Amino acid sequence: MSHLLHRAANAVMPVAIGGQGIELIDATSKRYLDASGGAAVSCLGHNHPAVLEALHRQLDKLAYAHTGFFTTETAEKLADNLIAGAPTGLGRAYLVSGGSEAVEAALKMARQYFVEKGQPQRRHVIARRQSFHGNTLAALAAGGNQWRRAQFLPLLIETHHIDPCFAYRFQAPGESDEAYAARAAQALEDKILQLGPSEVIAFLAETVVGATAGAVPPVADYFRRIREICDRYGVLLILDEVMCGMGRTGTLHACEQEGVTPDLMTIAKGLGGGYQPIGAVLLSDAIFEAFAKGSGFFQHGHTYMGHAMAAAAALAVQETIVRDDLLANVAAMGERLQTGLEQRFGNHAHIGDIRGRGLFRAVEFVADRGSKQAFNPALKLNAAVKREAMARGLMVYAMGGTIDGVRGDHVLLAPPFIIGPDEIDAVVERLGDAVDAALAGRG
Ligand code: PLP
Repeated sequence: MSHLLHRAANAVMPVAIGGQGIELIDATSKRYLDASGGAAVSCLGHNHPAVLEALHRQLDKLAYAHTGFFTTETAEKLADNLIAGAPTGLGRAYLVSGGSEAVEAALKMARQYFVEKGQPQRRHVIARRQSFHGNTLAALAAGGNQWRRAQFLPLLIETHHIDPCFAYRFQAPGESDEAYAARAAQALEDKILQLGPSEVIAFLAETVVGATAGAVPPVADYFRRIREICDRYGVLLILDEVMCGMGRTGTLHACEQEGVTPDLMTIAKGLGGGYQPIGAVLLSDAIFEAFAKGSGFFQHGHTYMGHAMAAAAALAVQETIVRDDLLANVAAMGERLQTGLEQRFGNHAHIGDIRGRGLFRAVEFVADRGSKQAFNPALKLNAAVKREAMARGLMVYAMGGTIDGVRGDHVLLAPPFIIGPDEIDAVVERLGDAVDAALAGRG
């Protein structure tokens, strides 16, 4: 009997005892290809020697010093590294312990910014349906996934949601990408006007939607239009790159490919690659100046923020990505993965869409390709695919509720950036077998 409350109350989990490269090893010595990096976390795979070495070095020097008393060399170096790689205009980093904490901090920064600027009436946050921003209460409130929110609704702050930019599900037949991008972005302006432009704090969106909809990239100039609309009404743009950022899509930040700079950006997951819990908010110079010249501080804080071990891990991960030119591998292996998935599933009766960027790819299941109708959620197809994949030594991030939080199934792939061509081919082959087995067993 376990004394842990696992994610599923009665789950009997395999015990992970080791890791090597892109594989995890359980207590029976079974090896699993980590094709999802857990949840798009393990960008350098497992037990990377450069990160282990940096962690040992930091531990021998100093594990922790409270940020109310000290800064540390490691945290300062990490911030220098993050700002050197950030889009122009993002000049400071705020280090926390994960993605939800980063989103909470970004929302509070956005609110405090307007208080400092003498606009305390601004109170509304707009986000998108089918987004996920974390499970703490404000992040959950901002998220647009109905299933995750439902039972906690009475506890959630008021937030507002517009439709996502999700071409496979929302682009009309015959509608051009440009027309669809314009229509999807217009939903933001309509919502701002409805709420009252001087009352809106921020628009929050994942640059490429991750967990809840499965590697959904924006279309055409959607984000440039979003940026313009935010600027028109003085609304802050917060891009949540907790999952899609830090190289996952082939550029350090996913927003580089959109040609936009947010006012606030959240990062986590691939920042520390799972070697330590860490997240960060990158904030604009304007927001920093508002705090510095106003009250003099950002009214927030956590005991473990700026943790020296976490900063050491993240710094080592980020330096390794540059030293080994891994973003080039993300782009090349991402193309190979997409091609492999198209060859294996392109004519599959029950795969409706194969999408994504870099090493951030997904396949979406349909009962019928013509109508794009989803499988009955009661079949729990995504859980069956995950089960069949694990049986074949393959980890994939399978999820249901792709369309609206209830209907739809997809599998998200987010393998480590160190993956090679043979391993990509093995991922596709094992996933193909797992999908066929899950579909055959659906009764
Ligand atoms: N934001 C996005 C886009 C995410 O995908 C996640 C986690 O999946 C979070 C925030 C929350 O991050 P964490 O689980 O580290 O709190």
